This record gives sequence, C-alpha cells and structure tokens, in this order.
Amino acid sequence: MNRLKNHLQFCFKFFLFFSFLWIQSCMFGSSGNVRDYKNYLSEQKQTNSVPSGKVRVTFLGTSSLLVDDGETQLLTDGFFTRPSLFRTAFLRLSTDISIIESVMAKTRMNRLKGIFVCHSHYDHAMDAPFVAKLTGANLYGSSSTLNVGAGAGLSFDRMNLFIPGKPVRIGKFTVTVLSSKHTPPFKILGKTNATDPNHPNIDSPLIQPAKASDYIEGGAFDFLIQHGSHSLLIKGSTNYIEGALDRYKVDVLFLGIAQLSKQPETFQETYYKETVKAVKAKQVIPIHWDNFFKPLAEPLEPNLKIGDDFNANMNFILHKTKADNVNVILLQGFETIDLF
Ligand SMILES: [Zn+2]
Repeated sequence: MNRLKNHLQFCFKFFLFFSFLWIQSCMFGSSGNVRDYKNYLSEQKQTNSVPSGKVRVTFLGTSSLLVDDGETQLLTDGFFTRPSLFRTAFLRLSTDISIIESVMAKTRMNRLKGIFVCHSHYDHAMDAPFVAKLTGANLYGSSSTLNVGAGAGLSFDRMNLFIPGKPVRIGKFTVTVLSSKHTPPFKILGKTNATDPNHPNIDSPLIQPAKASDYIEGGAFDFLIQHGSHSLLIKGSTNYIEGALDRYKVDVLFLGIAQLSKQPETFQETYYKETVKAVKAKQVIPIHWDNFFKPLAEPLEPNLKIGDDFNANMNFILHKTKADNVNVILLQGFETIDLF
C-alpha cells in the first residue's frame, strides 16, 4: 500500500515538474528566432570612425538608438540596465551604473549631446538621466521624464521640456519631437500596463529604487531627425495619430513593432499606412522587438510569447514592405548601420 502511495506521489511530482516546464516554455519562451530572418540581418559592427558626411546608427535594444555623424552623438532612451523579469515584477529597480559605463565604452559614446526619451515607462526612461550625468549630455523629455531626471539628481539646466513640432538644432542635426500614442494597453496575468487616466504623469521627482509601475507613460513621442538633406524617424511605440506624419518624408524609419500582430487586422493595416506609407520610407528598421528582461551584452532575443509574437510582427512587415519595394534591415544589439 505504502509503495503504491509513494509511486503515485512520485508520478504526481513528475507531472507537476513537466507541467511547470511546459507552461514556462509556452509563456516565457521566445516568440521567434532572429536567425530565421538572417537575410535581413545587417551583421555590421563597424569599428572605424564614422565616414565624413555620413550618419551612423547603433541599435542598443528596445528603442535605444545611438545616432552619430562623427561630430555629434544623439541617443534615444538609453535603457541599458534591463533588469530581469523577476526583479521587474517583484523588486524596486535601480540603474546599474557599471552597465551604462560598459555600453559607453563599447560604443565610444564620448560626444553625446542629447538624450531624447520616447515616453516615461521604465524601459525607456529609467536610465536616461544617469546616462546624461555620465556623458554630460542634456536630457530632453516630457514633464514626466524630467521628473525622472530630477529624482536622479540631474540639474535643471541640463533638462529640456519637449515642445512638440518645434525643431531643436544640435550640431548638424535638427530634431523635431512629434506627439504620438503609446502601444495599445495589454494585460498579463490580470495586470494591465495602461496608465491610470486620473494620474497620467509622473508629478514629482522619481527617486530610485522605484517600482516599474512608478514609471508612468506621461505621453508618447516620435523623433524626426534631419541631417543635411536626409532624415530618419524614430517611432518607439506601436501606435499612431491619424495624419500626424503625412507632411514628413524620411529616408529611414525605425519602426516599433512590439505587439503589432496582437492588434486587430485593421489596426495593423492602418499602422503601416500611417507610418511606412505616410513618410514614404525607403528603408525600415524594426525596433522594440527584443526581450528586455535579458542583458544587452548577450545576443538579443525576441519578446516573450506571453506578450508578443515576433514572427507574426516580422512577417506582417515583410509582407507589406515587399509589395511596396521597401528595404527591411534587422539589427542585433550593438550592430551599426551607416545610413546616408
Ligand atoms: Zn511603454
């Protein structure tokens, strides 16, 4: 009798263990494989300096991009700490200065003049003021982002409030901040990432360590960056304001694709029309596709299955751009591209 009981207990534990592994691989597995898109990978990690007159962009995960013309460097977001899923879900987060320093060294980020933050969720804003402090760059953002800066002790003369539509000249770059919209909210395990409409901004200095949920969106923004006769657009969030981009024409579009295929088909079609089509981009570089619970120092992996579908997002973009003769390039972490 006892032997039967022990045997049943063993079988039950065995079942539980493999159920756990199965659930984990279903929910917390990667939603695709970058190597499946190897024809679109740039696989360039230039170590030479930026050729004169060219603009080089380095992908640093999520919507963090380093833009460099050899004289002046600009950065979006600068989210490099990338705490694990466990830390993000259960602990208060702090910026890891040593990670920022290693990214600065690896990318030779020594001429950085401006950091522009797409919105104030932690995966965009938490490290930005610390990058500003370490590099001497100015921080540009919404009032919420500037409260993240104030909480980090960044002095007010180094912080600039976004004025959407008004061009800002930095070196040979002209940056225009454009009002945009955040990716539609989603729920994971009953929790939503949506901002409370009664409390849409970070209203006071946000001091670390802070919970991920303390980083309230505070408005979402796109960045039009012009250099000579060329331009690029950085669109971190997978959403649009109808007609907002119609008057701009850009050479290269850095396009947020997080959760695109999770939206209704009409949304996906309109997103493509209001972004790639609207700006008549010749080249599209998907961003915000990577699992940001993993370190930037390792090869980037697609977002988790629990919240996204990288393959479906990529296949949609590839299908649409092929029909329009638009070139798509996928960048791994620290990969660079000389644009124009
Ligand atoms: Zn966000």
